[in-house]
Amino acid sequence: MNAQLQPSQVNEAGHMAIGGVDTLKLADQYHTPLMVYDVDQITGQVARFKKVFEENNVDYVVSYASKALAIKAIYQLLKPAGDHVHADVVSAGEMATAFQAGFPAARLTFHGNNKSKQELVMAVDHHVGMIVLDNFHEIDLLTAVLEERDATARVMLRITPGISAHTHQYTATGQVDSKFGFDLDSGQADQALQQVLANPRMDLCGVHAHIGSQIFELNGFEMAAAKLMAVVDHWRQDYCYLASIINVGGGFGIRYVSADHPLKPEEFVDAIVKTVKKEAARRHLPLPAIWIEPGRSIVGPAGYTLYTVGSRKDIPGLEPYVSVDGGMGDNIRPALYQAKYETVFAADPTQKAAEHVRLAGKYCESGDILADDVPLPKTKAGDILVMLDTGAYGYTMASNYNRNPRPAIVFVKNGHSQLVVKRETLADLVALDQSYTLE
Ligand code: PLP
Repeated sequence: MNAQLQPSQVNEAGHMAIGGVDTLKLADQYHTPLMVYDVDQITGQVARFKKVFEENNVDYVVSYASKALAIKAIYQLLKPAGDHVHADVVSAGEMATAFQAGFPAARLTFHGNNKSKQELVMAVDHHVGMIVLDNFHEIDLLTAVLEERDATARVMLRITPGISAHTHQYTATGQVDSKFGFDLDSGQADQALQQVLANPRMDLCGVHAHIGSQIFELNGFEMAAAKLMAVVDHWRQDYCYLASIINVGGGFGIRYVSADHPLKPEEFVDAIVKTVKKEAARRHLPLPAIWIEPGRSIVGPAGYTLYTVGSRKDIPGLEPYVSVDGGMGDNIRPALYQAKYETVFAADPTQKAAEHVRLAGKYCESGDILADDVPLPKTKAGDILVMLDTGAYGYTMASNYNRNPRPAIVFVKNGHSQLVVKRETLADLVALDQSYTLE
């Protein structure tokens, strides 16, 4: 059996089950491609993050980075998790989704390297709890918005910590050459600090850094936490400003394939907390609140994509292509980042592999290959496959390429399933199109 499956994920019929629901039944009821989330896996992960902070007796916030999955149901699911569980948003769209879900604006943090004036107005008017200032243009825009609306805002400064975490180049954001945040060494961060401190409408709460994504080592986070504490110390000594929050971002790596051996997300948090405590003691600083922003590690392992097998192409001497009814439209990550996933045979995930295949999508791109070298029993058209750990950055990056509708999303819990995002229809696909009438 696939090492990533729990014994409880094989039911009495021998089929793969998610949250106690048979995947063949899910495919039959909701059709494929289908994204399925195990609710207990999501809430369990959030609870584990909270526990590490609580055991360490520090003030904290776990702010779910909703770019990983930004649908109403996820904000609704996180809302009851309490005041220490927030959500990051990076656009008017994510903000609007959170508002519609009834997620408290005070528990939202607004990020982004090019927030528009309209987006800042929306955040200010809805009293979004924290705006992370990323650049000088944004300080000017927010200053104007706050004047216009006669309002105030709680803000943080995002800095580029100059730490290059071991990760894929497209997701590395902590190194000096990054589009995100204020540079430290050139004095940009200090200049931003002075501007913000001089603005009575901005309540500066602290400093933020995010060093990258899918990180497997502790030392990147330890270095980032130490760097943030050094910034706090420098600002206290040179500007008499004491930050009350440090935000170390997200990026905790998860296991996509059996060869991945990430630490438990809790171990990352424990190392961060210990570093902050050590630095605070060494520098005689009060312990700040510690905020983290996990996205992938909360929803990634909880998500599964169900596909139906269709055509097959055998080429002598080469791995066969087995095509499924989805692909780069519902999961761009293999084509974009060469991301790897494991896939199991829903009807019998314990069955021994009979061959290794290339799992091809249905989109008109040769690069639309979801996975290479996938060990599977001999499949036939109509069989259901389950791709594992697809919960993060799949649906949120989905497209309508080739005018394919985006899939439906189902949440499962205790043997029950609920549709939380409908499958797009052909009518949805043309809903925004207008007829051309120019002569
Ligand atoms: N915080 C910030 C500022 C980010 O840019 C990102 C991802 O890009 C995250 C948090 C979430 O990262 P991950 O999903 O890898 O935990």
